[in-house]
Amino acid sequence: MVKSTDTMDAHNHISPLFNFDNTFSQNLEGFFVNCQPEPASAPKLLQFNYALAKELGLDPEAHDSKAGLEIFSGNVTPQGSEPLAQGYAGHQFGGFAPQLGDGRAILLGEVIDTLKQRRDIQLKGSGRTPFSRGGDGKAALGSVLREYLIGEGMHALGVPTTRALAAVTTGDDVYREIPLPGAVLTRVAASHIRIGTFEFGAARGDVDNVRKLTDYAIARHYPDIANASNPYLAFFEAVCDSQASLVAHWMNIGFIHGVMNTDNMTISGETIDYGPCAFMDTYAANTVFSSIDSHGRYAYANQPKILSWNLTRLAETLVRFVDTDKDRAVELLTEKINMLQPLYETYWLAGMRSKIGLSTENPLDLELINDLLSIMEEGHADFTLVFRLLAQALRGDSKPARLLFEEPVAFDIWEQRWRTRIEQDGITAETRLQLMDRVNPIYIPRNHKVEEALTAAVNHNDMIPFSNLLSVLSHPFDEVLGKESYARPAPASDAPYRTYCGT
Ligand code: AMP
Ligand code: MG
Repeated sequence: MVKSTDTMDAHNHISPLFNFDNTFSQNLEGFFVNCQPEPASAPKLLQFNYALAKELGLDPEAHDSKAGLEIFSGNVTPQGSEPLAQGYAGHQFGGFAPQLGDGRAILLGEVIDTLKQRRDIQLKGSGRTPFSRGGDGKAALGSVLREYLIGEGMHALGVPTTRALAAVTTGDDVYREIPLPGAVLTRVAASHIRIGTFEFGAARGDVDNVRKLTDYAIARHYPDIANASNPYLAFFEAVCDSQASLVAHWMNIGFIHGVMNTDNMTISGETIDYGPCAFMDTYAANTVFSSIDSHGRYAYANQPKILSWNLTRLAETLVRFVDTDKDRAVELLTEKINMLQPLYETYWLAGMRSKIGLSTENPLDLELINDLLSIMEEGHADFTLVFRLLAQALRGDSKPARLLFEEPVAFDIWEQRWRTRIEQDGITAETRLQLMDRVNPIYIPRNHKVEEALTAAVNHNDMIPFSNLLSVLSHPFDEVLGKESYARPAPASDAPYRTYCGT
């Protein structure tokens, strides 16, 4: 381990904010290219995640110092880092791109956090890499802050996700349709290995490399299965489990990822890439926000089906490792793929049961929950608020919940059925209310609030709306007096909300 000092050495490395312990670069030759971040002309720290820094075991003095700023802007590579761009392929909207890779991100290295978990430290938006193709490798401030806000919001909601450690502006413009302030996000992840990383190796016919990658992913993410009788099959099953649980979680909170390409699906089961994602206000199963998803491939209700589609792509890269007999391997993997939807539904139903305050299982629960979703859709009710206000109904005031529905009578009828079911459910009223308030957020990243925060930051150098929103989203289950506007959906508008792949 290197001792933390604040002096620069002769190689323009500075004090080790991070105690790097890099394994990707040591083990996975062929899956990366070494490269350096581009310098920023006038870096400025806009946001820093103190809680996460603490979790990572960073020196509390150094992280928002000048030394920290130089690192988080890409101006200086910290001691112990081995900057590299990872290679990956990906099925984008169904079509295969054999080489995508980190076109605007650079992995600095890995650290072991205070909980002994290995975490990647990555700069996003720090300039061109060998994978940049026509892109500039940069990120605009709006997209950096969007990822920070929604990612941290997801974390507070209890959803596995990559995290945001720091956001800096570079002092340089990036050119999109108009010049925009450039920024760099420091992203922290369990790893950045994606389904697309496997596809990258497979597309090159690098059998040994894909096997090495699989062994590495097992050791890093699923060490318990290393001794399974068929570790490669067990690995596939474990990724299926993590991803099924993740997508169920998204569905339970009304989150639409927006670009579930195989390069944006992690092996660890963390949510990654907050480009065109958004939360649904009014419940509608076919909701799409992304401007480029014209056929609704990644619509809210399609996400579970895409989960299976994506994992089938992963399975294809593992066939030869699962069994030397190809037919047998395909049969074994297909069995696992066939179990994915029931597995997803189990996670989803468990989540939904908690949301409506049930602690026990009854075969009729599925129908009860689906009927609630149907009347929400017909009644144009707000997804987040309906669930949150069910607890208020149990506390004796059904009015706020019923008024969310255009035809409140539909809710009244459902409420009677629900209350009958609740009566058979054995926990105390107090425990039930606690359960519900822990899983039904009052605050989500409402689209109009996110836009308001980003506009203030980008157009007016005003980070106050961002900070206010971030602080509300950091405690999404705790109602705070005076923060009512954060809980409300956007005022009615003629124009549907649109999101863009954030670059
Ligand atoms: P995404 O849609 O964010 O998952 O990105 C898909 C691919 O496009 C990845 O290989 C990115 O690295 C690449 N990419 C996106 N934006 C840029 C950019 N500004 N410069 C270079 N590559 C980019
Ligand atoms: Mg991506």
